[in-house]
Amino acid sequence: MTDQTRFASTNPATGETLWEGASASPAEVAAAIEAAQRAFAGWATTPLETRIAHVRAYKAALETHADEIARAIGQETGKPLWEGRQEAASMAAKVDISIKAQAERAGSREQEMAFGRAVLRHRPHGVMAVLGPYNFPGHLPNGHIVPALLAGDTVVFKPSEETPLVGTWMARCWAEAGLPEGVFTLLQGGRDTGAALVGGAIDGLLFTGSAGAGAHFRRLFIDRPEVILALELGGNNPLIAWDGDPAAIASIVVQSAFITTGQRCSCARRLIVPRGAVGDAIVEATAALADRIGIGQWDEQPEPTIGPLISASAAAKAQEAVAALIATGATVIRPFEGVSGRSDAFVTPAILDVTGLAVPDAEIFAPVLQVVRVEGFDAAIDAANRTAFGLSGGLVSADETLWRRYAERARAGVLNWNRPTTGAAGAMPFGGLGASGNHRPSAYYAADYCAYPIASFEAGAVVDLTSEIKGLR
Ligand code: NAD
Repeated sequence: MTDQTRFASTNPATGETLWEGASASPAEVAAAIEAAQRAFAGWATTPLETRIAHVRAYKAALETHADEIARAIGQETGKPLWEGRQEAASMAAKVDISIKAQAERAGSREQEMAFGRAVLRHRPHGVMAVLGPYNFPGHLPNGHIVPALLAGDTVVFKPSEETPLVGTWMARCWAEAGLPEGVFTLLQGGRDTGAALVGGAIDGLLFTGSAGAGAHFRRLFIDRPEVILALELGGNNPLIAWDGDPAAIASIVVQSAFITTGQRCSCARRLIVPRGAVGDAIVEATAALADRIGIGQWDEQPEPTIGPLISASAAAKAQEAVAALIATGATVIRPFEGVSGRSDAFVTPAILDVTGLAVPDAEIFAPVLQVVRVEGFDAAIDAANRTAFGLSGGLVSADETLWRRYAERARAGVLNWNRPTTGAAGAMPFGGLGASGNHRPSAYYAADYCAYPIASFEAGAVVDLTSEIKGLR
């Protein structure tokens, strides 16, 4: 008898099986955590330069295998190859960014004091569990793993059950980097494996995924405050498009809402426009540009703009959410449909007008854009902030005073002006407010949650302090 279940990943465009294997059993999960615990003391005290050398060797392995990794990303997620290549390049670029961030945000500092010195140091937490999402199966878990290993933590990583193949490529690159036994362990599996991992003796959970799972983990760890939790969750992101050339605005809206088939956490879900002719022109231009989006398989020529959703069931789930919006009274400007001659995971970018409707404050993780028309810019900001989430937001306008007004009042961790909401730099923090996270932003600030600070007063000699004690008799 075995308690292991087998699962497979498939190409959402073709149904072709890409990876097949067993989920890690509870015993294997426990063994991985124990190995990570055993490795921790040695890794934490390994000189930083040596850890950096391993991480640089990982970067070299990523570069050697960049093409295979990009192809694995394209096949498993359905993303076009150009996007898989971008993701593979971001994974390698993360290494130098993380080395810099580690030194800046989690390094050591000293300050002279009359008695000696004040010293700030950082120490790693221990065993970090990393759970990854499917939409950036390499880049996002990589954004936790690299800073954690640099900080001296050991890592047990479970990729999304939709993208185990990309996970195996990451594990191979770490193996080629010559990490000591137990410092990095890959576990494959779905939620049961994830549950066994987070229920084990870990010191941190670094999670990128859905808000629902994030809320579950918050509750799960309520009595384990010693476990550090970094939650990078979804959003119901607004983009206010206020003035400018409609075609130019449309180019920003389309890149915000429909890139990666709407499967980016930072995708704009709501387009807020002024009521009247200006708003009409923006919506029309957006629909016209959406008509030109090329939809196809990851390796097709000419290159498509977008591929399918991750799976037919993700498409069906999004279709249900769109049907609910329509049942609430939403007007269809551009329909959400399957693509003829393609698998059921393919969908068309949709635009729905939901002005004045009480629609759910929820993330539809698909290329579905909800238009809200408002009177006046204050109403636009109010509409933008009308969400429990707070991941990304944006304004399109030539008027800098409007940008300043929005930037002052917006509730979002990523806020862009005349740039797509999906634009983000690795050299900046990335994280959201409210239901989008737990105030532990990732990217450049990942170093903060991978180590804890220790502040010390240090005097090199034992000096008699009796004279400093007030009121002695
Ligand atoms: P998901 O929450 O379904 O799964 C993410 C990972 O957690 C997977 O490995 C999954 O197996 C595991 N998991 C889920 N529920 C679990 C549970 N109860 N116990 C143990 N493990 C569990 O997310 P997804 O659908 O793979 O990814 C898409 C979501 O991720 C979207 O909501 C998106 O907005 C969000 N996301 C956020 C960011 C960010 O940086 N804020 C980036 C990318 C994606």
